[in-house]
Amino acid sequence: MIKRPRRLRQSKQIRDLIHEVSIDKTDLIYPMFVIDGETEEVVSMPEVYRYSLKDLPNALDKVVKSGVNAVLFFGIPKESDKDEAGSQAYNDNGIVQRAIRLTKELYPDLIVIADICLCEYTSHGHCGVIEGDCVVNDKTLPLLAKAALSCAKAGADIVAPSDMMDGRIGAIRELLDVNGYENTLIMAYSVKYSSSFYGPFRDAADSTPKFGDRKSYQMDFRNKKEAITETQLDIEEGADIIMVKPGMPYLDIAKTVSETFNAPLAIYHVSGEYSMIKAAAQNGWIDEKSVVMESLTAMKRAGAKMLITYYAVNAAEWIGE
Ligand SMILES: [Zn+2]
Repeated sequence: MIKRPRRLRQSKQIRDLIHEVSIDKTDLIYPMFVIDGETEEVVSMPEVYRYSLKDLPNALDKVVKSGVNAVLFFGIPKESDKDEAGSQAYNDNGIVQRAIRLTKELYPDLIVIADICLCEYTSHGHCGVIEGDCVVNDKTLPLLAKAALSCAKAGADIVAPSDMMDGRIGAIRELLDVNGYENTLIMAYSVKYSSSFYGPFRDAADSTPKFGDRKSYQMDFRNKKEAITETQLDIEEGADIIMVKPGMPYLDIAKTVSETFNAPLAIYHVSGEYSMIKAAAQNGWIDEKSVVMESLTAMKRAGAKMLITYYAVNAAEWIGE
């Protein structure tokens, strides 16, 4: 007798009845760039903008109407405000702090996540303090902790350190706690590979290193076991939410991490992944909506709860259709 798995695929109704994985609007996190300047489209990421504070409310309005509940902010200071120590990252009146306050005034229930790093704010474009041509780990930690505290004070619900320094989760947790921010969550970029898929992001955030690369702190994509070590350390130091970045090329890593640890997992569908889909769609070579929804569903199938994607607002609208 023929075994007939096709019986379960015979109609849309049956397929919908038995499907295992689906995306909910509450899974989606929308990354947004806020700039101390005029709004502009990111050249290598069509339909993604760097928003001025003046234009931010309109953009947020669209996010909230789509049903997306969380935004992830990256600040872009004036070029002339960048310095060796990235001091705008922990200036209480910096661009990202002002954006957080404005957002919380307008939409108190919208979850605001603040990316915590120095690379958007340093004159050299590295994620930490530089001595010679070395990124010095331990001198960077207090600056990251100050940046996290400054964003928490501005109203951020979650701080998300993306720098990959050793010990930063512990340093941030400690400074938040002694200042009374014990309820501010930490979403750790636990597993962040040094990836060429970040190319368009560096245009968007003006964060290309002026010399060298980030291979001495971000992970080597040839390695898998390091992902376990990094995640374990972050959880021990106090991370509430863990992350794997990039997305699609790293689903094996996401699956391993999600099966090994109990903390909720986010996957970052990164700029290069967005731009490749967008460019192919603009050429009419692929169907944008179905490729995006298939990609995001694959990330959930691999074990993600949260999906950080430049397609968040579109995806929420498509889910609603
Ligand atoms: Zn950085």
